[in-house]
Amino acid sequence: MPMKILCEKCGFLLYEGLDVKAPYEIVQTYNGRCPSCTRRLRHKPVNIEIKPLLNAVGCAQ
Ligand SMILES: [Zn+2]
Repeated sequence: MPMKILCEKCGFLLYEGLDVKAPYEIVQTYNGRCPSCTRRLRHKPVNIEIKPLLNAVGCAQ
């Protein structure tokens, strides 16, 4: 199922993909900071959006 994780401050797209990942993995990927606004990222979900697979597949293909 497609998943998005956004920075809670600036809305920077930290992760988007078909695999559901643990938020702390995403945070580690960015060394704990949003690359856009440098806000410290929390080790818990900030803004997660999970959409039905139909949307993503329908748009991409
Ligand atoms: Zn940010």
